[in-house]
Amino acid sequence: MKLIERLNNIVGNENVFDKYEDKYCYTYDASTITSGTDGVPLVVVFPNSTKEVSEILKIANQEKIPVIPRGKGTNVSGGSISVAGSIIMVMTKMDRILSIERKNMIAELEPGVITGEFQSQVEQMGLFYPPDPASKAFSTIGGNVAECAGGPRGAKYGVTRDYVLGLEVVLPTGEIVKTGARTMKSVAGYDLTRLFIGSEGTLGVITKIIVKLIPLPEGKKTMLAIFDDMNKASETVAEVFMAGVVPTTMELLDNIYIRSIEDYVKIGLPVEADAVLLIEVDGDKEILDKHINIISEICKKQGATQVKIAKDDKEAEELWVARRAAFASVSRVKPTIIGEDATVPRDKIPAAVEKIREIAKKYNIIIAVLGHAGDGNLHATILTDERDLEEMERVEKAVEEMFPALLAMGGTLTGEHGIGRVKSKYLPMEVGAEGIALMKAIKKTLDPNNILNPSQMLGDD
Ligand SMILES: Cc1cc2nc3c(=O)[nH]c(=O)nc-3n(C[C@H](O)[C@H](O)[C@H](O)COP(=O)(O)OP(=O)(O)OC[C@H]3O[C@@H](n4cnc5c(N)ncnc54)[C@H](O)[C@@H]3O)c2cc1C
Repeated sequence: MKLIERLNNIVGNENVFDKYEDKYCYTYDASTITSGTDGVPLVVVFPNSTKEVSEILKIANQEKIPVIPRGKGTNVSGGSISVAGSIIMVMTKMDRILSIERKNMIAELEPGVITGEFQSQVEQMGLFYPPDPASKAFSTIGGNVAECAGGPRGAKYGVTRDYVLGLEVVLPTGEIVKTGARTMKSVAGYDLTRLFIGSEGTLGVITKIIVKLIPLPEGKKTMLAIFDDMNKASETVAEVFMAGVVPTTMELLDNIYIRSIEDYVKIGLPVEADAVLLIEVDGDKEILDKHINIISEICKKQGATQVKIAKDDKEAEELWVARRAAFASVSRVKPTIIGEDATVPRDKIPAAVEKIREIAKKYNIIIAVLGHAGDGNLHATILTDERDLEEMERVEKAVEEMFPALLAMGGTLTGEHGIGRVKSKYLPMEVGAEGIALMKAIKKTLDPNNILNPSQMLGDD
């Protein structure tokens, strides 16, 4: 029987797409790379259950057909684009919230649930799922787990990894495994849950996720600290934490971002400022003012020219809408946006920003800086035009100089966007030959025929 027929029998023909124009869409994700006409998949399938995922993977493994798991395709590292002749397995129809257990403060979800929708549901029950990638309105929880997505709240609440208690995963060979537990702690055997988190769709297809919830903070307050000097702003980040206050978010935006956002959303951002820190605190209502005042004093001491505290929720939301529009706004400056996300220890933020600016000047390219500065995650955003080949060469050289410099500061290549296909050639720079060999051995054990998302993260062989 032909492959398409076999897939039709498993998921129903309404969930199988093999027309060229349907398949071509999957040569893209939100990264700047595409597999193009050479990389068009064989077929796109939308499974509805774990059993269907398992049956598809068994066939693919037998026939040695590559399978690319996919959520909403919003990753920015090329992790979900097709390879030639592959099956694209889109997980968005497995989108049920299976349970929200108030007493145990856990929830069980299928991978296709949209993260922001899940958050809104638990918040109505007074519960909180903190991980908040800026894509939360359209990315899936499965994609978030596979990438270990972070977001602005990482400074206080950590990332996706910190909330996942257990998983159901279908291995590339089709076996279904359950990892972790429904309990707040478990040390039974190796921590397989963490092995799959951040594995970028290379080790197994995630079909269920058990997450931990926490009580919804009573309130929050937002402020904007304005600086005429980027160095003063970036020095302020570590100072706030040293004062014993842990803000929920602390976003650093440079002048390029401030101007682009203001031009786009027009809310009166200070376009002359060299940098701003957008800061939010949350918690019990009685401590919000205390924390905002401490942070405000530190910002002034560090040289902020002005500190604006949002007077109500509407004003605060306006600032966050502006922040969420950041990437859209800079894409109006140049057509190709390369969003790096190297992360450095907090005390190295000033040196890292200085280095990025120095490299931009040296190679005569535009690099805008936005950061989840509270956790040292800097989005050095290269604004370029991929049609300008000469400029792209300079961009490549700049990236090649930037990564080792940030690693030498004790940093990492990626805090949340993943290695994907975009950064796979740089991974050995961080983890060394031994690290790569160990990762490849793990991949080989779980995926002996290398069918699941091949050539992604660990490169080609
Ligand atoms: C505007 C914008 C803002 C963003 N902001 C942030 C941010 O603040 N923080 C952040 O961390 N990221 C951010 N991202 C990146 C992106 O949204 C995240 O990486 C997100 O987790 C991807 O989810 P997705 O559903 O789109 O997954 P996809 O992009 O479809 O897939 C991502 C990876 O996961 C794998 N995968 C997907 N589903 C499964 C599954 N069920 N089982 C196994 N593997 C799977 C895929 O193979 C791929 O390797 C942003 C992206 C955009 C476009």
